[in-house]
Amino acid sequence: MSTDAKNNTALMEKIVSLCKRRGFIFQSSEIYGGCGGVWDYGPLGAELKRNLRTAWWNAMTRDREDVLGLDASILMNPAIWKASGHVETFADLMRECSLTNKRVRADHVDPQDGVIMNYTGAEAATGWKLDRVISVLMKKSEHIESFRKRVRLLIASNAGEAAGKPEEIVLLGEAKADAVERSVDYHPETGGALGPARPFNLMLKTYLGPTATEDDVTYLRPETAQAIFAQFKNVFDASRVKVPFGICQIGKAFRNEVTPKNFTFRSREFEQMELEFFIKPDEAIEIISGEVAAWSEGADLSEPQANWGWDLWHRYWVDQRTKFYEGIGLGGVLEYYWQTPEDLAHYARACVDILCHFPFGTEELEGIAARGSFDLTAHQNASGKSQEVFDEELKVAAAKLTDEQKEAMIQKRLAAEQSKVKGAPMPEADVRAWFERLFKGNYVPHVIEPSAGLDRMALAIIANAYEETEKTDEKGKKEVITVLKLHPRVAPIKVGVFPLLKNKPELVAKAREVYALLKRHMNVFYDETASIGRRYARQDEVGTPFGITIDFDTLGEKGPELLDTVTLRHRDGGEQERVKISDLLGKLLAQVS
Ligand code: ATP
Repeated sequence: MSTDAKNNTALMEKIVSLCKRRGFIFQSSEIYGGCGGVWDYGPLGAELKRNLRTAWWNAMTRDREDVLGLDASILMNPAIWKASGHVETFADLMRECSLTNKRVRADHVDPQDGVIMNYTGAEAATGWKLDRVISVLMKKSEHIESFRKRVRLLIASNAGEAAGKPEEIVLLGEAKADAVERSVDYHPETGGALGPARPFNLMLKTYLGPTATEDDVTYLRPETAQAIFAQFKNVFDASRVKVPFGICQIGKAFRNEVTPKNFTFRSREFEQMELEFFIKPDEAIEIISGEVAAWSEGADLSEPQANWGWDLWHRYWVDQRTKFYEGIGLGGVLEYYWQTPEDLAHYARACVDILCHFPFGTEELEGIAARGSFDLTAHQNASGKSQEVFDEELKVAAAKLTDEQKEAMIQKRLAAEQSKVKGAPMPEADVRAWFERLFKGNYVPHVIEPSAGLDRMALAIIANAYEETEKTDEKGKKEVITVLKLHPRVAPIKVGVFPLLKNKPELVAKAREVYALLKRHMNVFYDETASIGRRYARQDEVGTPFGITIDFDTLGEKGPELLDTVTLRHRDGGEQERVKISDLLGKLLAQVS
């Protein structure tokens, strides 16, 4: 392991430890040994997530006129997952260890060097027998006896009590095969030979209804997006909106990730924040506006325009989402990966992954995809219910087109279908039928989908806010202080309130008064134990951006001009200012909301 990798692993361990120690994130079911890939948020984690949810909800719907909210259920009719393609294709390619049946993602096996050891089987004094060839990679540095011990241990744990104790298992017919270099055919942890790559569905199955038969099978949703598509028509009809408009929702999603890892980054239960922003097909824009605006470097994306097609809308949402991340303190650590035509799903026109720096690497935080009309069309076909909208403006504009102009549009589209890189071209009859509906003002909207993970966002926030500094106390003793430089908008505690001394009733009464004043508007923490320095340090460690100290000046002991003023300390930089109690609320609210 390189020094950088070691430092990053150590940093991650410190972050995990801080999260547990200070009540951000706990392992689920810890007292029973945990539950793989599932995490619980403690008091501070719950506040952090809540702040992130609110920031996202406000940015995506409250502060906008063109996006509506939805709160759909986790369980849905399984027909939704058939129509969306999840039953058929929501799978990772997996390989299974022949020794332990442990699965690993086919693209997650790093090349390994070593010697292949083969055995014809194994048996134990208990009468237990394993009657098949065992082929295991012995690592270069490994001693033969520790290798045999490892294999016996693995066999014993896989066979359960039947095999007896590992040391009682005899490995039969040992044969050494050739040395291998950079082999990807052995399990990275067990060393057992890997079987062929097979798709493994990531959806968690469950049963709806009392009989628990195959007829009752449904799934815990693996994404929140499909409910938005399934409810598209209801929201559209109930809200008197016009395309372009969006529907967003926040909620739990479940994926049976084969290798949950990197703390909460890849979990089996997590929360998504997704927007489906419905737009007109480019052909409709061309008919209404004369042409579709083209994107160029430096284009003004601040205000949506009537002549925007999918490309500009897609770039607009990348820009909006970037501004969102800047507003919660992640602006400086983002990168963008524009998927290549080879990466893209056949129906997708573009997809950008917003990546963020984590101690374990630069990884996806959010994906923003232009998905055409794929999803709504799939549900229209599967349910037999029209997902079209009627657009009067389009109908009026199309009525002014000559037959030649209409035919030119159809020919342009047919040519585009023929030059598709992926997926079959749409048959000419279907293209003509589609245009016939379009010229009458009817179409299935296209969609831009910004899809973010709340848990990844919370982890990104914590990991990028983590800082250690060395401080020397009054006695000259050096200590390492941890500071979470959380943006005030997302910090779980906004302000700490501290009376200078806890045994002076006047100070305590004033501090409780300040606490009560602020508490109705933000999460405030009252603390009267230990020295002021220690109290500041405790709050720095959990990212509290402000601290208020009530001292004798507050009581007017140094003169009336300081009466009812407090010291406001800023976590970053440690500067302190004297503020009137009556000015506190306005000053703090401006920074934390
Ligand atoms: P990845 O490639 O990391 O598996 P993905 O491309 O499958 O992610 P999407 O299906 O696009 O992810 O989901 C959208 C967002 O949901 C991701 O950007 C991520 O923030 C979040 N997300 C997806 N899977 C998980 C998971 N297992 N744990 C936590 N968050 C997740």
